[in-house]
Amino acid sequence: MKITGFRCYQIDLPLKEGRYSWADGKYVEVFDSTIVVIETDSDFEGYGEVCPLGPFYLPAYGPGARAGLKELAPHLLGLDPTNVTLINQVMDQALLGHPYVKSPIDMACWDLLGKSNGTPVCALLGGRQGDAVELYRAISQLPPEEMAENVAGYSKEGYRRFQLKVGGSPDDDIARIRAARAVLADTDVLVADANTGWQSHEAIRVVNAVADLDVYIEQPCRSYEECLTVRSRTSLPFILDENIDGLPQLLRAHADGAVDAINLKISKVGGLSKARVIRDVCVGLGLPMTIEDSWGGDIITAAIAHLAHSTPERHRFSSTDFNSYVSASNASGAPQRENGVMRAPDAAGLGISPNWDNLGSPVFEIRD
Ligand code: MG
Repeated sequence: MKITGFRCYQIDLPLKEGRYSWADGKYVEVFDSTIVVIETDSDFEGYGEVCPLGPFYLPAYGPGARAGLKELAPHLLGLDPTNVTLINQVMDQALLGHPYVKSPIDMACWDLLGKSNGTPVCALLGGRQGDAVELYRAISQLPPEEMAENVAGYSKEGYRRFQLKVGGSPDDDIARIRAARAVLADTDVLVADANTGWQSHEAIRVVNAVADLDVYIEQPCRSYEECLTVRSRTSLPFILDENIDGLPQLLRAHADGAVDAINLKISKVGGLSKARVIRDVCVGLGLPMTIEDSWGGDIITAAIAHLAHSTPERHRFSSTDFNSYVSASNASGAPQRENGVMRAPDAAGLGISPNWDNLGSPVFEIRD
């Protein structure tokens, strides 16, 4: 199989809740998602998606994904997309960094590898583990009582895991964590994710004030060193996300005893190929993972499901069904949440078909 061309689409994904807010007053109301189609000399096309959480969550933004694709695509024309290792080598040779640009291309290559073998991507990533993937619900930052109401509401929809967006004022955040924990069952999992929003003195105040509660603390501060300081001052289980952007950072955090779990986002590390390596190392190290992406629609939700469902259950902390947060669909066949869980599609490849009516015309096409 050879790559003969690329088409790139842009789709707005409006948030059903209206606004998703997190640390430092950041928010997004409409997500800017980029869909990559790889055309081949076979009967198959490959599909991938990347959707940054606005331009200020990670060093990634929607128009940057599309600019990067224009840069990379000419280097990939004529190559075999099912040779995902070679594709990644060529991408890394042609463009330093920019993992979020490479992610949808790598994702589309896995889709093609699955289609050409007649097998779902989760089978290629190690095989389906268990019946279903447990999901968490992200709770947008609001006043404490409103966040507790939303936790209770999503609990009724079947979620058993919740991630509170904190990283605001420490006093408000202490009240947010206490209010949310109070409406949950003892067996429900609660994570307070500050998304780098606290300084270390603020984080230490919060972890001390909620030390009597069953709650995980995620990415309290911006730098790894600040997070290490907070880690050394709390007995609460500790998760790093933004700081774990590749294998070297994972290995350092593990050696330092800095984490009890990590958050593995597909586009943060450059695609399914690199996420799979980090996933397998985490399994070897005994570290559980939240397996997800920065944001996305149906195509990314399918990719998350394939990576998560092929991960040993013991090492799955949670995952996300982003397609249930947004009101626009970019593909059919994606997993649909049922009672707080989802399953990887059974069809070959990612198991999705783009919703061309919603995607409209390509923003650009690249061919020989
Ligand atoms: Mg996080």
